[in-house]
Amino acid sequence: MHHLSHGIYRRYLPQFAPFSGSIRQPYRENPVQTSLFLLPLPLNRATSLLMTYDTIIIGAGAAGMMCAAHTRGRTLLIDHAKAPGEKIRISGGGRCNFTNLATGAENFLSQNPHFAKSALARYTPFDFLDLIARYNIAWHEKARGQLFCDGKATQIVDMLRSEMAATGADLWLQSTVSNLRATPEGFSLTASRNDQPHHLIARNLVVATGGKSIPKMGATGLAYDIARQFDVSVTETRAALVPFTFTDQRFKALSGISLPVRASTNAISFDEDLLFTHRGLSGPAILQLSSYWTEGKAIALNLIPHMPLFDSLRTQRQTQGRRQLSTELSAHFPQRLVDYLSAPLNLTRRLADLSDDKLQSLCENLSNWQMTPTGTEGYRTAEVTLGGIDTNALNSATMACKAHPNLYFIGEAVDVTGWLGGYNFQWAWASGHAAGTAISNGPQ
Ligand SMILES: Cc1cc2nc3c(=O)[nH]c(=O)nc-3n(C[C@H](O)[C@H](O)[C@H](O)COP(=O)(O)OP(=O)(O)OC[C@H]3O[C@@H](n4cnc5c(N)ncnc54)[C@H](O)[C@@H]3O)c2cc1C
Repeated sequence: MHHLSHGIYRRYLPQFAPFSGSIRQPYRENPVQTSLFLLPLPLNRATSLLMTYDTIIIGAGAAGMMCAAHTRGRTLLIDHAKAPGEKIRISGGGRCNFTNLATGAENFLSQNPHFAKSALARYTPFDFLDLIARYNIAWHEKARGQLFCDGKATQIVDMLRSEMAATGADLWLQSTVSNLRATPEGFSLTASRNDQPHHLIARNLVVATGGKSIPKMGATGLAYDIARQFDVSVTETRAALVPFTFTDQRFKALSGISLPVRASTNAISFDEDLLFTHRGLSGPAILQLSSYWTEGKAIALNLIPHMPLFDSLRTQRQTQGRRQLSTELSAHFPQRLVDYLSAPLNLTRRLADLSDDKLQSLCENLSNWQMTPTGTEGYRTAEVTLGGIDTNALNSATMACKAHPNLYFIGEAVDVTGWLGGYNFQWAWASGHAAGTAISNGPQ
């Protein structure tokens, strides 16, 4: 830990008064000047450089960049990744499902279902559409209000970088953070940049380091660690929007088949596509369901949610009585799925041999296929982390901690988890905007 003595201040930063009282006073207008000022000094690598900011944001993802784009004053955004907004870049198959027109608090999971309302109302999908219109980013609606870029998702990252540049925010990449502590004036921390430790102080600290999903992309539990350090409670976290696994690999033979289903737990149902995989089940229907699933719980698949199969089979029985049930079902389902179900559902019977009751029971089996997943693919592939910073600890309009008014948590780190379909980015934009405008409007 690098504690700067006043002697070091005097030696390396002669123009800066030792830190006391308001941290606004020693700020320089232009961040570049500050850096230039520091560079020519006879640096000892082991010695920290002192830099002061109004606001430090840790995490240059969707929420952190949005926050920086709305934060006035001297702002520094720090990330350990090589590039900002990496999840934006890969999202939506490279086209970023950047919002959902139907966004409402009901599309989010949280211990407090009302928490997200305020921020979502202050920054809506239409506000984001106004922003991307200014950058001429073309988009289209794919399904159910899901908006995607026509071109590459990197347009969104570039746009946010431009917005940040307009507010004058500094961006430090490949930089790690340590020694965070509260000071009477705000916060101090060490950021290692190009192996050079920098001692940073700021009045406001915004934590935007996301959840634990996809550690290979740089996800860490830093937000939860910081919360615990400041006695801010964290709700239980787990992987969400994630495929189910079955240790017996029972669906291996069906791998690659996709079909529309209704997937249900006893809490909720989703009508979306199901995808069979080597290791289990995936596809939008399953990803959605996974957010509501806990280990040991059964799920049910309805393979005929909008199909009047019973009526269709009865009609066919009159004219095609000698036809095998499996042949008839092949008109409605992929052949491999029919083969798979053939033995358990006894599909080699002829239509003429089936009473209405038997047809009804077949349809019931197809509409209520129960199974209990062994687990999920976990954080390795999960799109989001469920749970996080306890919303009871935060002000819903500003994202500030009630007990530490200058400490903010935004984005996926917070216990607000959206459905699949652009809701998670809308939360990142809205919560980042909430913190950024609160900092800009508040006392500095
Ligand atoms: C494959 C995939 C596809 C997705 N597609 C969509 C989609 O189309 N639509 C949608 O709405 N949502 C989508 N999501 C979810 C969405 O990406 C996230 O909800 C959103 O990015 C969260 O924003 P955030 O800023 O809170 O966190 P992130 O975007 O994860 O950003 C966190 C940042 O913090 C940095 N960081 C983490 N730990 C540290 C540390 N210790 N020190 C320094 N920096 C750190 C990370 O490098 C990262 O840059 C997708 C997610 C994945 C994984």
